[in-house]
Amino acid sequence: MRPDHPTNTPADSTTDANPGADPLVRLTKVNKSFGDHQVLFDIDLDVHAGEVVVLLGASGSGKSTLCRCVNRLETIDSGSITLDGVPLPAEGRELARLRAQVGMVFQSFNLFGHKSVLENITLAPVRVNGVPREQAVERARELLARVGLAEKADAYPAELSGGQQQRVAIARALAMGPRLLLFDEPTSALDPEMIKEVLDVMVELAAEGMTMLVVTHEMGFARRAADRIVFLDQGRILETGTPQEFFGAPQTERARDFLSKIL
Ligand code: ADP
Ligand code: MG
Repeated sequence: MRPDHPTNTPADSTTDANPGADPLVRLTKVNKSFGDHQVLFDIDLDVHAGEVVVLLGASGSGKSTLCRCVNRLETIDSGSITLDGVPLPAEGRELARLRAQVGMVFQSFNLFGHKSVLENITLAPVRVNGVPREQAVERARELLARVGLAEKADAYPAELSGGQQQRVAIARALAMGPRLLLFDEPTSALDPEMIKEVLDVMVELAAEGMTMLVVTHEMGFARRAADRIVFLDQGRILETGTPQEFFGAPQTERARDFLSKIL
């Protein structure tokens, strides 16, 4: 990407977690329109196993659509998206398998309100992955402990704070054993005092080597946890670089303008 910039020396190992290997996710010339409104233009993007890629861009630049295309909540008009070299499946059992491999955490936590925390987390592993219930429960308890909510297994979503609900949503995504986690503004609906508890969990996941594509306006997180920043503007990738490169020396007027508004 930057031939003047060695990519596999220790000092620069953040540019690409595994530069030699095939990417876990590859988007090639992806175009997407809603009606006659084109939202994504020729998007080329690789995410390697273990990498944390943070997508930045103004509202309406196409960040959510890009995420939704990666787990096929949206179809694309042209180009290709592959997971481990295999094109995303269109439907059926294969699509269910894809959804199990690509977890998504949304701004609105989307928990099932009439189910307990434990049921929320075990539902898909049992129904979709065919995991025996006892095993799913055991795993769910481990995951709840990991997100700091061991004591909330029997609570209902309405009894939890927003930050706690979002941590349950992360545990639920992890319960499927995903290879990639997509986060679409996971802290945007949270009160300020709850943002940190969610970001802390995400930083920990990143440190443990989880592959993550993250849309966020939390620039502290982006600086700290991202291996790479991708800046979208009106459906096009305008810049990509390390946090140091992007925040330290944005290359385009658009990126400078974006940063001046958000920082
Ligand atoms: P971002 O997440 O960066 O704010 P989005 O991906 O949500 O951007 O939206 C990009 C553009 O696509 C916006 O103009 C938005 O109005 C439009 N858009 C998103 N989803 C739909 C949809 N389901 N139908 C029509 N237009 C949509
Ligand atoms: Mg969005």
